[in-house]
Amino acid sequence: MVVVMQERATDEQVQHVIAQLVGMGFDVHRSTGALRTVLGAVGGTREFDPRLIEVLDGVQEVLRITEPYKLASRTFRPENTVITIGDLRVGGDEVIVMAGPCSAETEEQVETTTAAVKRAGAKVLRGGAFKPRSSPYSFQGLGEEGLRLLRGAADRHNLKLVSEIMDLSQLELMEKYVDILQVGARNMQNFTLLRELGRARTPVLLKRGISATIEEWLLSAEYILAGGNMNVMLCERGIRTFESYTRNTLDISAIPVVQKLSHLPVLVDPSHGTGRRDKVAPMARAAVAAGADGLLIEVHSDPDHALSDGAQSMFPNQFDRLMAELRIIAPAIGRSICLETVARRGWGV
Ligand code: PEP
Ligand code: MN
Repeated sequence: MVVVMQERATDEQVQHVIAQLVGMGFDVHRSTGALRTVLGAVGGTREFDPRLIEVLDGVQEVLRITEPYKLASRTFRPENTVITIGDLRVGGDEVIVMAGPCSAETEEQVETTTAAVKRAGAKVLRGGAFKPRSSPYSFQGLGEEGLRLLRGAADRHNLKLVSEIMDLSQLELMEKYVDILQVGARNMQNFTLLRELGRARTPVLLKRGISATIEEWLLSAEYILAGGNMNVMLCERGIRTFESYTRNTLDISAIPVVQKLSHLPVLVDPSHGTGRRDKVAPMARAAVAAGADGLLIEVHSDPDHALSDGAQSMFPNQFDRLMAELRIIAPAIGRSICLETVARRGWGV
């Protein structure tokens, strides 16, 4: 249920409504927008009479949220959520590009790749230290050493860092190194992990599960939001269909669908979405044109020798060209992208 307060409602009135809702057994989440305060009330009893709240001073209206996810829904928060991480804003006008290797492998590989993605205009370094590999015999990641290498490179190049958390036991360690915790497709329904991330304050990038519907994906986001961590961004990374030419089928239509249903930022990962480096640029362009708030792209300084996902990792020069193309596409739909790079290189806008 959503309680929309009047524009001129006082803080005292808001507090009174919250107290009443808590007394009735609801968990209350407050969202203060530019114009008015909205209270999301989750739980309570089915036979609850909304008129009990409607009559309270300062209340404009009470709406039932019919979707099974509540805090993730646009009814709860009509305006877009913008996640602020230092000087970075995810979900605002700027399309945020996160790029880097699938896995951290060596100091040299991390440094060269980071320098390249920064030069091209990425704002966040991506890189795995704990890798969810289909085979137990494949490279599993460098663990803490990988996080150390990634953090060092991100700091040297003034980038934020996103890396995947696979298990609850890694949380304390990961929070020392990363700015964004990535939950991988295989863990989208690891509800124990999601609950714990709800108690954390580090922003979470939640990938869509390999066979998850959009509703299941939003319900997974709800686990994190319900714990109090409102900094959740979603990432479409392709789903499994009968088509086998590409590694997955990238669901571009998920972008406008989720943006209608939810206020959370939506990113797209065309690398895992296609599995082939020659298909990454066209799908990245399509994602930005369709309104994605950001991209997550695998780039490697020497993809032919990568220890994981080499075939889908872009060469730095391909990534650089893609970023130049995105700088043309983004303004066409009222978005901006890495303007500093344009200024630094002396390109006209
Ligand atoms: C990754 O980003 O490296 C990754 C393993 O992604 P996914 O969980 O989408 O497979
Ligand atoms: Mn990968």
